[in-house]
Parts: sequence; structure tokens; C-alpha cells
Amino acid sequence: MPKRALSKKHIEEVKTLLLENKAKIEATLNSISNDHESLSNMDLNDDADFAAASRDYSNDIHIKNQQMKELTLINHALFKIEKGTYTGLCEMCDSEITMKRLRVKPHAKYCIDCRSYIDKEKVSIA
Ligand SMILES: [Zn+2]
Repeated sequence: MPKRALSKKHIEEVKTLLLENKAKIEATLNSISNDHESLSNMDLNDDADFAAASRDYSNDIHIKNQQMKELTLINHALFKIEKGTYTGLCEMCDSEITMKRLRVKPHAKYCIDCRSYIDKEKVSIA
């Protein structure tokens, strides 16, 4: 284990946050798919209704994609915690990801520097 890895206590904290976020995302994803089932059963009276409904629909798809992506990262982090390979260190440069950052975004894989580098360079890694 790298020496700057998070303490057990902090890893437990991150794990709790990850599980909470996971439950929230799964609830959101469930409610989105339920909405869509009711949408397809809905009687849409005219084109305007249909346009409004499909606008909501594409917005939902966008949210759904975002949430799915986040869920993948959460599962990735949880998997590493279960395997005991989770360190809380940046997967790119190995520096510490601060607890402050992890409390906001427990599934973060990169430190702020690498994250902003990725955003700036539009490197396509989640
Ligand atoms: Zn980094």
C-alpha cells in the first residue's frame, strides 16, 4: 500500500458516502424508468403535448446517462474498497485526493489538478 493512502477510518467514511449515493442514484434511475413506462401509456392529445413529453424524455435520458456514469464510478470505488486496493489516491498522479473533495465526490478517481487537466484537454476518461 502506498504510504499516503487514506486511513481505515476515512475509507470507511468514503464507503458510507458511496453507498448512500448509490442508493440515491438507483432510486432516481428507477423513478425515471417508471416515468417512461407511464409516458408511453399516456394519451397525448396533440403535437404540442408530444413535443413537451419528448423534451422531458430527452432531458431524462441525459440525467440517466449522467447517473449511470456516476454509478459506474461508485461501483468501481466500492469494488476497490472490498478488495482492499482502495487508497484514496489519484489514479493518475498518485497524489492524495483530499477528504474535503471525497466528502463532496466520494467516487472521485483523480485529484483536482488531474481533473482540471482532463477537463481542459478534453481527455475522454471518466
Ligand atoms: Zn492527480
